[in-house]
Amino acid sequence: MSTGTGEGETAPDGESESENPPVRRLSAWDAADLEELAATYETPLYVMDLGRVRENCRRLREAFPDADVRYAAKAHTGRAVFEAVRQEGLGIECASAGEVERAFAAGASGSEVQYTAVNPPDGDLDLVVQRWEDDPDLTVTVGARDTVERLRERGFDGRLCVRVNPGVGAGHHAKVTTGGHAKFGVPYSEAESVVLDARDDFDVVGIHAHAGSGISGDDLSAHREVVRRMGDLARAVEEETDLEFVDVGGGFGVPYREDEPALDLPAVAEATREALGDVDAQLAVEPGRYVVADAGVLLATVNTVKESEEYETVVGIDAGMTTLLRPAMYDAYHAIRNLSAGEDRNATSVTVAGPICETSDVLCEHRPLAAPARGDVLAVGNAGAYGYEMASTYNSRPRPAEVVLDPEPRLARRRESLAALTELEQ
Ligand SMILES: *Cc1c(COP(=O)(O)O)cnc(C)c1O
Repeated sequence: MSTGTGEGETAPDGESESENPPVRRLSAWDAADLEELAATYETPLYVMDLGRVRENCRRLREAFPDADVRYAAKAHTGRAVFEAVRQEGLGIECASAGEVERAFAAGASGSEVQYTAVNPPDGDLDLVVQRWEDDPDLTVTVGARDTVERLRERGFDGRLCVRVNPGVGAGHHAKVTTGGHAKFGVPYSEAESVVLDARDDFDVVGIHAHAGSGISGDDLSAHREVVRRMGDLARAVEEETDLEFVDVGGGFGVPYREDEPALDLPAVAEATREALGDVDAQLAVEPGRYVVADAGVLLATVNTVKESEEYETVVGIDAGMTTLLRPAMYDAYHAIRNLSAGEDRNATSVTVAGPICETSDVLCEHRPLAAPARGDVLAVGNAGAYGYEMASTYNSRPRPAEVVLDPEPRLARRRESLAALTELEQ
């Protein structure tokens, strides 16, 4: 099955002419193929194209040929995605013990795994230290002196990286800006002393900063500033400690709007190298969204079309904020396409809403869409990152199924059952 741009088809902006275009638009997915998947596996359904995941990995490796590229797992933790990114030579950046376990379950070895601890619960540290005892190449990144202390208490003396709060944030929404937020990393002014103090008890291999999500062409100055500070810090500690890498985080933006230009990745890479300056350590980056966002779509079925004089048409679908949280949580924009509508249906302005009893359970408002009818299948674009991952069972709504294209479709995660919702009850 080919859900990509068909042969001979050319997107208006010429993006499809390249073998590995910088973005895959929702319009480039094959409507008939997606409708067939919806019919076979039912909706709501996530579809993940592993071929596109691989293309995104390759584009990153080409833009950053000397850097260590690590996939930030929290964007999508499916085993098939882990396997694909590992095959493309990416490491795996984990935000919890659970992600570390899933990385190992997908075949990763310690040398491929970075665990970045954010206020880690005891159980997480216990588990990761246990993993490290079996596989001492694993790297632990700490963002507080407390975490250093707690690792020492557990007998960990392995590869340690210090996460620094660069004091500069990038991001499209306050909730995804982490750099300026004191929760993440040791304060920049203390970073040097934390590195130097840790040197005696640990193998300090790196310094790290992640300034948040949403690096875009307009936003490169904040990214430059973060990287410049990391370069300065690396040079300040270089004489005293032998750094292996300087990790400047992820956050490479993707165009959620169909008319938004793709990120100029080579330009970001050049700005990164320039801002880092001369350091005696390897550059590392850890993109999540960029790897998986445009490799995924969410399919949903229209069950209600409500027209009224006071409001625009409300289109009710079987996917909501429990399936894809980003619009409700971040006011995120996702392109939506009516796969079932032929040329004969005029575009009409609609609100698309889910089945959850919450006002915020709305995917879009005032959106022109080929007039939907009950039973139509809608596709929601750029759903591969932070989509399935943030799904919940609120309103006792089971989590959706997920199919991967490899290139043939196969069920990667079956739909959660209603029985699973009460399984934990005593
Ligand atoms: C979330 C996260 C990333 C990835 O962010 P993206 O915007 O998905 O690229 C990278 N590093 C850390 C530490 C993160 O928490």
